[in-house]
Amino acid sequence: MGMMKHPGKGCDGHCCLKIENLGVKIDGSEILHDVSLHLHCGEIVALIGPNGAGKSTMIKSILGQMEHSGAISFQPAGGRSRKFRIGYVPQSPNFDPGDPISVLDLFSLCTQKAPVCFRVGKSQRETVLSCLRNVHGEGLIDKKVGALSGGELQRVLLALALEPVPDILILDEPMSGVDVEGMQTLMTMLDEIRRNFDLSILMVTHDFSMLSRFVDRAVLLKETVLTQGTPEEVLASKEFRAAFQMGGGQET
Ligand code: ADP
Ligand code: MG
Repeated sequence: MGMMKHPGKGCDGHCCLKIENLGVKIDGSEILHDVSLHLHCGEIVALIGPNGAGKSTMIKSILGQMEHSGAISFQPAGGRSRKFRIGYVPQSPNFDPGDPISVLDLFSLCTQKAPVCFRVGKSQRETVLSCLRNVHGEGLIDKKVGALSGGELQRVLLALALEPVPDILILDEPMSGVDVEGMQTLMTMLDEIRRNFDLSILMVTHDFSMLSRFVDRAVLLKETVLTQGTPEEVLASKEFRAAFQMGGGQET
């Protein structure tokens, strides 16, 4: 009791994602082994670890894109009996600066089942605007995707991942290529989203300075879970120092 800064609403701390003894082998070499992790409703959890630790591999396993051993199970938030939804925000994809596609077009392409017609209807525009409102991005609707800044693109991708609202939102290094101010904005937005919607957030990040302020729990991964706990506990752990090879007082 009372361990989480912001306990999830209505879920009594139930797990919505349970990973048990996850293992991944690629071409005979072991990438992940014995990874066990529970994600509770309403939590924001940071997945940290050095490059090549297997963070993205773990995310791909959760997304069902990676062959693995062990069990990954999902429980919809609030005991809802519908299909479990995962929202995913990738590392910044590159759009050609000359790409004529607008944010509105991108949304229409991604969220409509029917092919996009030459003119996007008025009601569709309203729908996209309301999605963008979740990330304070209404003003981006007519911008070309290739002309967006790193931070703006992340917000658009985040808005897309929230349509429809998922049970878990997963972000894999969403801050790479985003400046300090952009990171603050993104983290504040994630906190707001977590409060407004009944979802959990799992994010891969290298920005340790944000952890204490915004994250309930940190999980240190390097082939397996080396340690987990509050951000303060994990950042002060000997496992953290060893994983990032920080010697006597060295700061990186
Ligand atoms: P992280 O996201 O923590 O930086 P990754 O999950 O991307 O790490 O990669 C973990 C390890 O698995 C790395 O050593 C990487 O080279 C290897 N790996 C990942 N995907 C593949 C693949 N498709 N084929 C071969 N090796 C891979
Ligand atoms: Mg990665």
